[in-house]
Formats: sequence, C-alpha cells, structure tokens
Amino acid sequence: MTSDSQGQIRVRFAPSPTGYPHVGNIRTALFNWLFARHHGGTFILRIEDTDTARRVEGAVESIMDGLRWLGLDWDEGPVFQSDRLALYREAADTLIRKGMAYRCFCSSQRLEQVRAEQSLQKLPPRYDGHCRTLTPEEVARRLDANEPSVVRFKTPLEGDTVVADLIRGDVTFSNATLNDYVLLKSDGYPTYHLANVVDDHDMRITHIMRADEWISSTPLHVMLYDAFGWTPPAFAHLPMILGPDKAKLSKRHGATTVTEYRDEGYLPEALFNFLALLGWALDDKTELFSREELVAAFSLDRVGKTAAVFNKPKLDWMNGVYIRALPLKEFAHRALPYLERDLPASVARPLDAAYVSRVAALVQERTKVLSELAALCEFFFVDTLTYPPSDLVAKGMDAAGTRAAMHAVLRGLETSESWNATSLESVIRPACDLTGLAPKQLFGVLRVAFTGRTAAPPLFDTMEVLGKTRCVKRLADAIALLDTHQTGTANASNV
Ligand code: GLU
Repeated sequence: MTSDSQGQIRVRFAPSPTGYPHVGNIRTALFNWLFARHHGGTFILRIEDTDTARRVEGAVESIMDGLRWLGLDWDEGPVFQSDRLALYREAADTLIRKGMAYRCFCSSQRLEQVRAEQSLQKLPPRYDGHCRTLTPEEVARRLDANEPSVVRFKTPLEGDTVVADLIRGDVTFSNATLNDYVLLKSDGYPTYHLANVVDDHDMRITHIMRADEWISSTPLHVMLYDAFGWTPPAFAHLPMILGPDKAKLSKRHGATTVTEYRDEGYLPEALFNFLALLGWALDDKTELFSREELVAAFSLDRVGKTAAVFNKPKLDWMNGVYIRALPLKEFAHRALPYLERDLPASVARPLDAAYVSRVAALVQERTKVLSELAALCEFFFVDTLTYPPSDLVAKGMDAAGTRAAMHAVLRGLETSESWNATSLESVIRPACDLTGLAPKQLFGVLRVAFTGRTAAPPLFDTMEVLGKTRCVKRLADAIALLDTHQTGTANASNV
C-alpha cells in the first residue's frame, strides 16, 4: 500500500462548490473518511473553487453542513484553492521552463473554427497544436504586448499512458486520443487538472478516491506527475451511482442533495449506513452497520467495479430500522423540530416537549421518515377534527345503535375518575354489551371520533395521551356531527 514517508495515509475530499452536495459527492467523502479512519490516517477537506464562473453561493457552507451532519469530520482544512493561486502559476511556469507546457494565444474564434472543421471531418474536437512551436522570442513579445494567453500541457503525440487503478486495474489510454489540455486559464486561474495535481502532491495525498467519471482526466494527471518529477498517489475510481432505471442518478430520481435528505427526515446514521453500501459490501448479506463497524470493516478491495443502484425503498426501510432502534427520549428529541416545522400553523408553538414525547411513544414504531410525523399525529395537536360523518357509522350498524353506544361511552368517560389505557378499556368494553356493538365496531367509531381517521395508533393509549378534556369534547362533537348528518339525510327513519 502506498503511503507517505511516515507511513501515514492521507486522503482528501475535494468538492467544487458548483452546487449543493449530492449523494454521489457525499458517498465519495464517506469512502475517503472511512478509509482514513480505518487506517488511522488524515482526512482533508479541500475546496476546488477555481472555476469562478460556476461557483454557487452557499455551496461551501452546504458541503460543510452536510459533512458535519453525517459526522464526517475533517482533520485538515478547509483549504481553498483560490487562496493558493501563486502556487499553481509557479507550477505552470516550471512546466514551461521544462518544455512540457507552452503558452497558447489562440483566440476563441480561432478555436471555434478549428472545432467546426474537425466536426466537418468527423474528428474528435481537440486543440490542433498551433502554438506548440512558437519561439521563446515570439512568446515574450506577445506577452509583453499583453495578448491574452493560456498555458497548455504538451501531451506526447505518441505512446500510451497507463492509469494503475486500485479498483479498475490498469486502464490504458492512447496519447494520440488525448488533448493539449489547458492548465492555466487566461485569467490566471488554474484548471481543475493543474490545481488538483499540484495540491495532491503538496498535501502529500497518498490515495485519491473519486468518482468514476474522473478517470478520463487521470491520464493527464499521471503525465503531469511525471512531468513535475513527482510520484503520483494511488488512484481508486469509485463506481457510478445509478437510479433504479439504470440511468445516472439525477434530480428526476427524487431527492439528490444531502440537505433534502435531512429535510425529509432521514437520520444521518441511516444515510451513512446506506451510502456506505453504494459500491462497497462486506459480504452478500450484511446490511446494517454502525459507524464503528464500518470503520473497522472498510477496505478498498471490497469496493465493486460495477455501478451501484440507488434503491430508495431500501433507504426508507433502513431509516425505519434506525428510527425504531432509537431510545424513545432520543426519538422524541429528533422528532420535535420536524413537528415544529410541519404541524399546521394553528397549533401553538413552541410545542410542549413532554407531550411530544408521549405522542412519540405511540408513533415511533410506524415512522419511516421524520417528515411524515406531522401527518401521522396531527390529531394529537389540533383543536378540531374534520372528517365525513359517515365514517362514524360502524359497518353493519345503523346510526341509532352507533349513537347509543357513543352516548354510553361519553357518560362513562365523563364520570371516569382515572384516565389511563387500562381504566379506559374497562369503561369502554361494557358499552359493547349494552348496545350490541362488536368491540371492533365500537373501537372503529371511537377511533374516528378521537382521531378523525380510520387508522391510528392503539385506541386506549391514544385516548390516554389525548387526555380527558379533549376526548370528552371530541366525542360530544362526534355525536353532534352524527345528529346533523342524520337530520339532514335520514329524517324519516326517526333515529
Ligand atoms: N473537484 C472535483 C469534484 O468536484 C474533484 C475530483 C477529484 O477528487 O479529483 O469532484
């Protein structure tokens, strides 16, 4: 295994702040972090912000937020490439001096023309080498005249460049298919290639783990290391992440940025576990891993060659597993901000944490993502419920029987001394005998009266949490609603 002189593993996550971090970026960060932690190495955060035109406001903060949220702490950085421009310019000069790079003064119009001609001849677009042979005197004269120029790499016209990849094996590129890539732009900013190579060398990076799509840049990087006389780090290009339709994961597959997953109420530990399995596996069955287990088990030789498929139902399942495993207190604590955010505006804020905790106990088992909580338990918080009165009439029962049962329960509740699931059951069950309703029927009616819906957490527990005042009022409201409904629709039946 390659490592620097102290045998220390040094890896980096090097995002470009051209957008909010998506699943692919974070998977890259995670693999680098796991590798560093597994080897007791160093994980560095480097912001590759030299593409000034594509810089997105807030992207750096969002990247750091996402890393912090997932617990991917960095040991060095953030290092901003925009703070290190002198280093790259110096490096470009070095290559010019060595005759391995050259100044190019071609205007964009000329380059456009070259491309158009190549396209007519069905040739791949590449620089035609026009400025390769300018004399030093001519270069000096044009620089003095302040003619804009870029620095290009003098890619060998023949031979092959081999990228030795820890995951893919040796990948060979024919130099003739490569370009005289730009290293330094006319504004003095380096391109990705130059800054990336200079920094990886300068930061003594031992392993580069990055998305597969960068492999086409790697032959140039290998040639650059060579040109500088530096030993390249080891390369490991991570498999692509595809959507369920096998197309590259994108917006149309749903949430793609880390912030969106947080907003939707995925737990960071669940996303962490899920992302670790996008391209890495311990075996063909183990799916649930704690952070510590992943740190202990992670190795590059178990990173797959084939693309990983982003399986959203699996993420939902995994999130549910992690939610159920939380101690109740912790679950309630994490649920609180989502409820604060998502419950209807009519519900007074701040919410009562103790009450939220009692509600949480009833819904934890059935929660998959925290953002669905408000809908699941809104009835615990709102003042009035709305539902169609017909929901109240038990299947196979007439309104008269239903109403009689409700009255019996209401009397029982009003006079009930104690208020807990057991005492409530002993008040309600007798009402069945009294009215001939099957327990299932009566419970169904009461569920609608107390929650406004036909599916809800266990009835007596729900009533215990709702409390006497709310329950008595809701049942009285339900009876009134049934009365109005009946007067309106079935007056003649005289019920
Ligand atoms: N700035 C590149 C990116 O956004 C870094 C690629 C690399 O790790 O070399 O992915």
